[in-house]
Amino acid sequence: MASYNTSSLSLSTMENLWQAHYAYWNNDIIATGIITFLGHELIYFSRCIPWIIADALPSIFHRYKIQDHKAPPSVSDQWTCVKYILLIHFVVEMPLIVLFHPMMDLCGLQYSAPFPTLKPMAAHILLFFLIEDTYHYWLHRAFHWGPLYRRIHRIHHQYAAPFGLTAEYASPWETLLLGFGTIGPPLVLGYITGDVHLVTMLAWVTLRQVQAIDAHSGYDFPWSLRRVFPFWGGADWHDDHHRYFVGNYSSSFRHWDVLMGTVAGPKGRERKNR
Ligand SMILES: [Zn+2]
Ligand SMILES: [Zn+2]
Repeated sequence: MASYNTSSLSLSTMENLWQAHYAYWNNDIIATGIITFLGHELIYFSRCIPWIIADALPSIFHRYKIQDHKAPPSVSDQWTCVKYILLIHFVVEMPLIVLFHPMMDLCGLQYSAPFPTLKPMAAHILLFFLIEDTYHYWLHRAFHWGPLYRRIHRIHHQYAAPFGLTAEYASPWETLLLGFGTIGPPLVLGYITGDVHLVTMLAWVTLRQVQAIDAHSGYDFPWSLRRVFPFWGGADWHDDHHRYFVGNYSSSFRHWDVLMGTVAGPKGRERKNR
């Protein structure tokens, strides 16, 4: 059980709520599981809503569509995705989420109040983004090798013009293997340093989820993040991966594809057809 001897500390409202949640359930595995699972569902589907609205209002948003020669996804496409993603979340991710608290305990992640301050959180999250991007680049590139593509990755490429909901439209093996790049770095860093908090981990998973959904949105705006940070991947980057099929294997940044000569585009398609 988490210890809550905090009489000498002054806690914020969020920290008090966090403590009350763990005290209410009186079982840390269930308390962590509920926060993690509900947080995941809430963020995934609520972040997809603006993209569903954008697809439903082509008179306003079509001019920002990257593959503007294609029709927006149909209601039936979106519904197919929702059903499949809920199945993956409940059958594949929920059991892992139940196992997460024991793993977190084993690796020495902290989960009691007070929460970490913003500076170490930001430093950890930046590190996780860089590590996950590297892991994702190489594993995703391997998934495009014929046998792995056919057995694992083909489902994710069902839509050549992706939309927000397709971010986690993938086989169970892909969910497990690529998901390790998200949950592995905080667990390993926690094990090494003893200084990683569950709140940092949740903030990281949230940002990674939002990044993945936005990268699949199919829209590139004048205010998109990649215009501020040119090394940021973004939707125009990952859209080209789905469109040309070869190249742009990284998740959040561009440097691995640039360094390894795997930037997607018409040239990538020529290479594939050779
Ligand atoms: Zn791919
Ligand atoms: Zn994708």
